[in-house]
Amino acid sequence: MSKVIAVTNQKGGVGKTTTSVNLSAALAYMGKKVLLIDIDPQANATQGIGVDRSELDLTVYDAITQNTPLKDIIISTDVEGLSIVPANIDLAGVEIELSQVKSGREQRLKNALIAEKDKYDFVIIDCPPALGLLNTNALTASDAVLIPVQCEYYALEGLTQLLNTILLTQKVFNEDLTIEGVLLTMLDSRTNLGIEVSQEVRKYFREKVYDVVIPRNIKLSEAPSEGLNIFDYDKTSEGAKAYAKLAKEVVRRNGN
Ligand code: ADP
Ligand code: MG
Repeated sequence: MSKVIAVTNQKGGVGKTTTSVNLSAALAYMGKKVLLIDIDPQANATQGIGVDRSELDLTVYDAITQNTPLKDIIISTDVEGLSIVPANIDLAGVEIELSQVKSGREQRLKNALIAEKDKYDFVIIDCPPALGLLNTNALTASDAVLIPVQCEYYALEGLTQLLNTILLTQKVFNEDLTIEGVLLTMLDSRTNLGIEVSQEVRKYFREKVYDVVIPRNIKLSEAPSEGLNIFDYDKTSEGAKAYAKLAKEVVRRNGN
């Protein structure tokens, strides 16, 4: 059975895209079939996985606005077992374009996924840094959410709003939505701050927090500019080791 996981947090720069790309790649390297869906107008995941955004005919925008079948949009990547539904800046117009649509606009991605999702072990959705219609489409299409939390001051700030959005989505569109896990990211082990923040997050989310903490690692920030996941960029890096561990935890939690 496939598992659809939205990587979400309305804060920008917390590691959503880095996690989406590298968790997807790690799962694929474990032999899983993975579909990465980029639903952020900035299309960082699309670029980070090595797809040229300027050469795309069809993107997730077409699935959401035109009901274009996902099978016509999905492209395979250089990583065996990993495919992507790419995005580009067109997505920025979705909110306005669908503003006149009375019903069903939150279910567009969910409906598009129905015909495809059973072909994959995992579907990972890289969400935009906003709690708008695109994020709602992602949460409505998902079985669970993975929340990256940056080990910084104010880490928990904004999470109440995110949890309220998850509750609202459960109530209105997707009663089966669960919290898959909370991931601590960008830990700087040279400071006490990161340790304190991670303790605070664990106190709040308890066993939902993954054992692995993603360290601040320069290789993780360099890899996307080469269009590479961390394993193809530098598989010996601390970042690669951490995301490999995360993938193992995700697989273990899902019993497959
Ligand atoms: P989001 O998708 O939540 O906006 P990103 O994954 O794009 O966040 O990360 C924001 C920036 O921080 C990017 O430049 C990314 O390369 C960098 N980054 C993310 N995770 C790490 C990390 N663990 N160590 C160092 N840099 C990171
Ligand atoms: Mg992002």
